[in-house]
Amino acid sequence: MRIQAPRPVSRGLSLALLVVVSATVQLAVTRASSEVTSPEAAAVQSASGSLGTITIAVDATEAPRKILHARLSIPASPGPLTLMYPKWIPGEHGPTGPITDLAGLKFSAAGKPIAWRRDDVEMYAFHIDVPAGASAIDVSLDFLLPASVSGFSSAASTTARLAVLSWNQVLLYPRGWGSDQLTYAASLRLPDGWKYGTALPVTEERGGAIKFKAVSLTTLIDSPVIAGSRFRSIKLTEGEGPSFEIDLVSDSAEALMMSADDIAHYKRLVKETDALFGARHYQHYHFLYTLSDYTAHFGLEHHESSDDRVHERTLLDPSLRKYHAGLLPHEFVHSWNGKYRRPAGLATPDYEQPMKGELLWVYEGLTEYLGDILTPRSGLWSPEEYRDNLARIAAYLDRYPGRTWRPLQDTTVAAQLLYSASSAGASSRRGVDFYDEGELIWLEADVIIRQKTNGARSLDDFCRRFHGGQSTPPMVKPYTFDDVVNTLNDVAPYDWRGFLTTRLNSTEPHAPMGGINGAGWKLVYTDVQGDYLSAYEQVKKTADFSFSLGVLVVEDGTIVDVVPGTTAAQAGLGPGMKITAVNSRRYSLTILREAVRAAKTSKAPIELQAENAEVSSSYKLDYHDGERFPHLERDSSKPDLLGKIIEELIH
Ligand SMILES: [Zn+2]
Repeated sequence: MRIQAPRPVSRGLSLALLVVVSATVQLAVTRASSEVTSPEAAAVQSASGSLGTITIAVDATEAPRKILHARLSIPASPGPLTLMYPKWIPGEHGPTGPITDLAGLKFSAAGKPIAWRRDDVEMYAFHIDVPAGASAIDVSLDFLLPASVSGFSSAASTTARLAVLSWNQVLLYPRGWGSDQLTYAASLRLPDGWKYGTALPVTEERGGAIKFKAVSLTTLIDSPVIAGSRFRSIKLTEGEGPSFEIDLVSDSAEALMMSADDIAHYKRLVKETDALFGARHYQHYHFLYTLSDYTAHFGLEHHESSDDRVHERTLLDPSLRKYHAGLLPHEFVHSWNGKYRRPAGLATPDYEQPMKGELLWVYEGLTEYLGDILTPRSGLWSPEEYRDNLARIAAYLDRYPGRTWRPLQDTTVAAQLLYSASSAGASSRRGVDFYDEGELIWLEADVIIRQKTNGARSLDDFCRRFHGGQSTPPMVKPYTFDDVVNTLNDVAPYDWRGFLTTRLNSTEPHAPMGGINGAGWKLVYTDVQGDYLSAYEQVKKTADFSFSLGVLVVEDGTIVDVVPGTTAAQAGLGPGMKITAVNSRRYSLTILREAVRAAKTSKAPIELQAENAEVSSSYKLDYHDGERFPHLERDSSKPDLLGKIIEELIH
């Protein structure tokens, strides 16, 4: 999963929340039972034999008016039966199944209604009694599609012209069965004239309905469908071998016009991942690319596809293009790191067992590192754009004091809380820092391997050992902390256990800079914002004064967060306040920027007028260091390993 905006805007602000999650969605896993080693897996796979095929027919013809209808037939025997609505959604790392939007739920057998009762404790469980003589239960339900763009797959997924279908939102499954043990035969009806893309194999299209091959519940939930009246499919490979394509839907035809250069970059991405991992664990791959300003913005990974949602004009607007460039590489990497190799605590056998996030610094952190280096390796970012993004994340991790009380390890354990945490107070609380700080740690590991082996080996060798091997269809190979340490030691002997344990448990005030510094670069601050940071702020509609005054501000003057210990905090400013005037002039972002620059050559404080709900007060900021934007600067006393790391593997 990928949250494209690591520090979303405070809830309650009238601002579109841009959440691009490098989401991890668990896909169709044909999981060999011998490979499931977690205790939860062993406990749940108690049901034996075969239940018979469950059928599900989804009617999405009313998706534009925000409702889906589904009918299921579930083989059953007389007696008590508990049916579950999926709760823990793979890749979202939390209990995010949208249970409150499940409506119209009715059960029957042979046409006769059956009463149901929700479990008193487990809100996702429904208890019924299957009547004597019945061999199946019929279920009908509706899903109320949300309009809010805040959140992940359970947030806005449809417009008048497109829809993203996540199967977990429209089905139930019998409790006690592992998701690999259940077989679902699905069909789907779309609005007239809509086309679609999905990794799920299709058996036939007839009478306006698409029929899919019967697959395990794991595979079904791992195989979303995008559909729309504006649809395009771009093939990234030809001839023999696995096929790769980008399926695009948007609210306008113009938004689907991917440039020839970008098509070439994505073709290169496929080749670069091949060179990096040396094997594939899928049979084909579909990037399901939704371009709309009216859906949530994030990415959610699957084994054979990814659900990637960005702004409508991402392919046309240079700022949006830069901002979202790393999304598809991140989600693609997840097919190896997250879907195939998965932390034991996240390799759960169904959607009811809680997930344990302690290894998310590998699942998401390594994916963030690899996705971000594949972006320049594929040509989707220039080396400078890559470095400016790295500088941005290093700078905020280094600046925010939340790290002095909450070790990185706790951000992984508490991931299910932090994904939805407000960005007000984020500098004190920390967020899902295992993405960005994980990236710094894996960069450092890469640099250490390169140094210890005089450049003969790198983290690429770790990836080939850990994620490569023989190519396979989708499957899950769980791992533990020890497996990570042992593979690193195979690549280059070192105290990896000590290195990782120290990084994960640190409450030092500064971010780990060993990777950047060891790679021949330094984090510096200048008064030049640069194209990348400028694009980043334009897309987020915020201005980041975190490294100068100590505030993150929405364009309209609303303060998202104030960094403790900075001039802004000392002056009494806090999250949620709204700046209305700067040095007696009505506030605008331009005027605030000019005031910060002018204060550099003045002794007078910057005077802000700000509203705290209904009370307006004056705040004096005695700040004279000008604007400060993070960048990386070359340290010529060391070799440029960073340049080497982002070089393409295939020349
Ligand atoms: Zn991710």
